[in-house]
Parts: sequence; C-alpha cells; structure tokens
Amino acid sequence: MRPPVLDPLFAPVSTLPGIGPKIAKLVAGLVGGQPDREATVADLLFHIPHSLIDRRHKPGIAYSENGDIVTLDVTIGRHSAPPRHSKAPYRISAYDETGQITFVFFHSRQDWLQKTFPEGERRIVSGKVEWFNDRPQMVHPDYSVSPEEADQMPPIEPIYPLTAGLASKTLQKAMKAACEKIPHLPEWLNEPYLHQTGWPDFAEALKTLHAPKGRQDVEPQSPFMQRVAYDELLASQLALALVRANMRTLGGIERKPDGKLQAAVINALPFELTDSQKDAIKDINADLAKPTRMLRLLQGDVGAGKTVVALATLAQVIQTGAQGGLMAPTEILARQHYASMAPICEQAGIRMALMTGKDTQKERRLLQEKLDAGEIDLVVGTHALFQGSVTFKDLGMVVVDEQHRFGVHQRLALSSKGRGVDVLVMTATPIPRTLVLTCFGDMDVSKLLGKPAGRKPIKTVSVSLDRLEEIIGRVGAATREGQKVYWVCPLVEESEKIDLAAVEDRHRVLEHALGERVSLVHGRMSAAEKDAAMDDFKSGRTRVLVATTVIEVGVDVPDATIMVIEHAERFGLAQLHQLRGRVGRGDKPSSCVLLYKGPLGETAGARLNIMRETNDGFLIAEEDLRLRGGGEILGTRQSGTPGFRIARADEHADLMEVARDDARLILETDPDLKSKRGAALRCLLYLFGRDAAIQLLRAG
Ligand code: ADP
Ligand code: MG
Repeated sequence: MRPPVLDPLFAPVSTLPGIGPKIAKLVAGLVGGQPDREATVADLLFHIPHSLIDRRHKPGIAYSENGDIVTLDVTIGRHSAPPRHSKAPYRISAYDETGQITFVFFHSRQDWLQKTFPEGERRIVSGKVEWFNDRPQMVHPDYSVSPEEADQMPPIEPIYPLTAGLASKTLQKAMKAACEKIPHLPEWLNEPYLHQTGWPDFAEALKTLHAPKGRQDVEPQSPFMQRVAYDELLASQLALALVRANMRTLGGIERKPDGKLQAAVINALPFELTDSQKDAIKDINADLAKPTRMLRLLQGDVGAGKTVVALATLAQVIQTGAQGGLMAPTEILARQHYASMAPICEQAGIRMALMTGKDTQKERRLLQEKLDAGEIDLVVGTHALFQGSVTFKDLGMVVVDEQHRFGVHQRLALSSKGRGVDVLVMTATPIPRTLVLTCFGDMDVSKLLGKPAGRKPIKTVSVSLDRLEEIIGRVGAATREGQKVYWVCPLVEESEKIDLAAVEDRHRVLEHALGERVSLVHGRMSAAEKDAAMDDFKSGRTRVLVATTVIEVGVDVPDATIMVIEHAERFGLAQLHQLRGRVGRGDKPSSCVLLYKGPLGETAGARLNIMRETNDGFLIAEEDLRLRGGGEILGTRQSGTPGFRIARADEHADLMEVARDDARLILETDPDLKSKRGAALRCLLYLFGRDAAIQLLRAG
C-alpha cells in the first residue's frame, strides 16, 4: 500500500489548473510517466528546468545586447498601426534615457495594445531584444506592467524543456500549483550524511528547483539538484539491492564438483591462462559453490580472453550434471564460439550444440529432443535460445556474451528456463563503473586486466579518404609480405541497399587494385556464405576481408594485423575500439587505419584523437561517456542517463557510489525496511516508481 502522505503527488496532472485532457496528454509525453496512465503531479515535478530567464537584467535600451532577455523601464511613445489589409506589423516606439526601441506585434488586437502600452506613460517591459539594421526592437514582449504592478513580474523564471503545443506559461502555472502540493515527507536520508553534505530536505530542494533564485541553483552540482539526484539514485540502488537479495534467497544450487572437468578444459587449451583469467575463474567457482544464485559481470577489453573463462566455469556446472547455455549477439559470433570451443569440448568430453535462427525445423526438433533428454551439456546460440519453446532438462548456468546488446528481460527470460540458474554476463565494451552501477546495480564484477602475454600494442593512424589510393597501395605491400587485412565499410543506417552497394563496390575496387581474390562478408549473405568467406580468410586463401560491421564483435583471426576502417568519423568510440580489437591478437605488431572524410566535426575529431592516443578500453569508455552521455553506450540512444530523470551518470558519478553503499548498509541493518527510516525509504521507493521492489519484502 502506498503511504497516504504521498497521495497529493500521485494525483493526475489534470487536477492542476490549466491542464485539461488534451494538455495532460502532451504533459505525459513530455515528462514520461507510465504509458498506461495519466502523468502524475510527481511525474511533472521531476521535470526540472534546464535554464532560467533572469528578468533582473536591466541594462537600459542602448546597452541591451542582441538576443538578450532584458527588462526595460520605458516611456511609451507613438503607436503606428499598419494600413488595413497590410501584412506589416504593428509598431510601438518607446524610450529611456539611453535610447529608443520599437515593440513589434503581429496580429494583435489594437484595443489590447492601447491598454497595455498607453502612449506617454511609464511601463516596465520585459522580453528579448533583437538588433535589426542597427536599431533595437522587441517582438511580442513577454511582460508590460505599470511601475506599481512591477512585482507581478517574476524576477526569475524557470525554463523547461517543452513540447510542441505546450506553452511555457501553462507549464509554469501548473508547476507552481504542483509545488504547493508537495507534502511534508519523512526524512529518508541519514542525519550524519545530511549534515555532512548540508543538503536541504527533499521538499525544499524540489521547490527551489522550480523557483530558482539564480542559474547556479539548477546546475547539476547545486545542493538542490544533488539532493534530488541522490534521492533518485538511492531509490534505484535500494530497489536493485532488494531484487538481488530476493534473487539470492530464492536459492541457487550449490555446485562444488571436484573440478575434474574444469581441469580437462584448461588442459586442452593450447596456452597458459593469465593470472587475471585464473582469478576470474576462482571468483566464479566460489559463486557457483554458494547456495545462492550467481549474478556476475565479467568485464574485459576486447581480446582479453573472456571466452575460456566462460567455458572453464561452465564445465564446473556441467560436471554436476546440469546444462549450460552461452548466448552471443550475432550469428557469426555464435558460430565462431562454437567453432573455437568445439575441439576443446571434444577433448574434455563436453557434448556441445549450436542453435541459431537459421536452423531448419527438423534440426531444431532434433536439438530440442536432445536438450530435453540431457544429451547435450552445452548449447551455444543467438537470441534463438530465448524463445519460449526452447526448454532444457536442467539448465544450471547461462553465459551472456556482449551483454549490452541484450535487454534485461531477455537475460531474465533465459535464467527462468531452469532452477536457480547462475548468470554470468560478459562484456567487451568496457562499461564504466558508473554505468555498471546504474544499470546492473550491485552486481559482482570480475575484470580481466591486460591482455594475454606476447601481444603487441596496436599503432593507430588517421588518414583522409583523399589518400585512399596510397592506403590501398600499402595494403597491397602488406599482403604481399603475407599479412592479413580487415577492411571495414561503414553502415549507412538509412538504407541497407546503399550499404550493400558500398561494400560490394569497395570489394571490387580492392580485388582489381590488388590483383588477388578478396573475401567479402555482409549481413545479407547466408550463414554458409559467411562461413565460407571467413574460412577463406582464416586459412589464408584470401588475405583481405571486406566487411560491414558484422565483424564488430568477437571475430577472431589471430594473425590479422591491419584494420582499415572507412568513414571512421561515422563510428562511435566504443565501436571503433571494438573494431580495432580485431587486430593485435597475435604476436606480430598491428596497425589500425582510420580513414575519414573531412572536414571533421568537433566530436568526430575528438574521437579519432582519443583512438590515436590510447588503446585502453576503459579510458575510451569513460571518454565516450563524456562525449555523448550514457545512453548510446548501452545502445538505448536516449539523451541523459537511461532510466533516470534527474541523476546523470556523468555529473553524479560520485553520488552513485555513495548511494550504492548506503543501500547496502540499509539492507544489512534493516532488511525488511521496518524501522522509522525504513518507512521513510518505502515512501522514497514509491516516489520514484521503484515500488515493485517493495512487493519483494517478506513483510509486505
Ligand atoms: P574476448 O575477451 O574479446 O572475448 P577471446 O576470448 O575471444 O577474447 O580471446 C581472444 C583470443 O585470445 C582467442 O584467440 C583466445 O584463444 C586467445 N587467448 C585467450 N586467453 C589466452 C591466453 N591466456 N594466452 C594466449 N591466448 C589466449
Ligand atoms: Mg568475446
């Protein structure tokens, strides 16, 4: 039950003055409440102004700059009405001791103009000044009041992100009424932290954000923004912690076999594990041995060697008689995992199968029978694995590769196909710590640092497309020396046809220029065609592979040494880093050529610079976050931090860490939120729409 003290905040916005059903719809679209119900007063209140108008700016007419919003103390001069049927505007002149200005009106009623701007009288007028042919003018001033009424004009007005059809004044009026509805709420932050930060209480913070006294009040680092952002972060961290605690009590299965099968897998590898691979395996073994479910993120830069960690730990689960699933984001990757794991599995005695969307019905039925009979220990596949019709005899562990491409639902869907399924998420896009926290909550994390021994760093250069021929020449020289080259063509998102034309064209040009066969891989080819092309390239029958970004993740040809990325300016940082990670996997020095088409925009230029300067995936991810906010890294392409209305991953990273610790401490001392602070925290969860987590509390 929602605490009644919150009722005023959960009233629909249409209860506010000036908001009818039509406006309510616009507001809902703007503030993003739940899709199936009207936006609430709380939804509206979390719509924070992005800037403000300061009407205290009174420079005088002559000193008003073009584009500034100013307040002028003027004497109204002559009105000049346009001739009838003319499209010309109505003009009113006015002056102060510094100069003269014209107020300009289109389609305004004359009687209203004469009443509002009475000739010869003093008026306080506020609006945006524009200089036109060296003369100042103001089109449709926002305010015109007599000196006695001057205090009716708000000195500072918040400016909200708006949507078409919704007037700023309507929103301001509704917001004012909404602020008056904010009840006195119990304090959910602990006293020492409040004292240390000096933050105001929630109600005061929110009210100030909607009636700021200066620009600094609505900036991300103001105490008012920090307070509300922290509340939002705490609500989310607490909810995640509750979900996680619940998941743990739901019980996993203790899996502690003697490790024979794991050892067999490791012995079958043609190399030694690195220390951080060993550590990660140890972490995961320990998780599996606990009676709770595992939820762990394995982070490691491209080429760090995550796959063998997954396989070794899957072996542990398989030894107990359960089954494992490994999910890859693309078919190529699934096939590649399958191919690279097959010899090891065979040697270790693990029965493995591949499942993709391309399987025939007959193949699928056969596979399904084997899964149900427990005749398959490990299935590698694409999202085909998620399908409701796929079942297992006893699914014990799921590994999700390149997680950021899958939604959380899909992850949960798969783990519900078994009892107490342990989940390992692997990501090669090194997600910055702050985003791990916001999106996964307090997930356990293992990191693979560095790369397997013997790897050489990759030299990166950026070159203008004008020098295409020169680059082709160098590629030719390299292939004659026996090197292998990837050549990536960009995705033109609007049209798959144009993409196709572009890679086919480049393929032709390269074959012609190099005088040898060149492989081609793109999304429209059949699996068999792709496999054949990849095989040719892997085995060295061809030395150049032209591809669209289908090769972006995971593809592994250890002796490829050159990566050419055409139209590099169109790619995001994370994507460039992923692509570059396809080379530098063997012991030979490698290079990456970023072919760009100038002139470069600021962000594109910054990206290419970062790529040249560093090979460190974590650094690149942080920069990426800085350059474009969190949304795109996770593929959600929203502005701001996904799932949050106020808090921002870039600006409030420090608060996120505190909120996580705070949430953990809260659940340690008061797991059922029964204390006085616990009751207040329940309010907080409702307030930010995280109340689903409350259902998980045993005491309801
Ligand atoms: P990623 O972390 O990008 O998924 P992979 O698991 O695909 O990396 O590993 C990249 C390559 O490195 C593969 O060819 C793999 O066999 C190899 N590899 C993994 N671990 C080691 C190691 N300890 N020593 C040498 N090569 C390794
Ligand atoms: Mg991988």
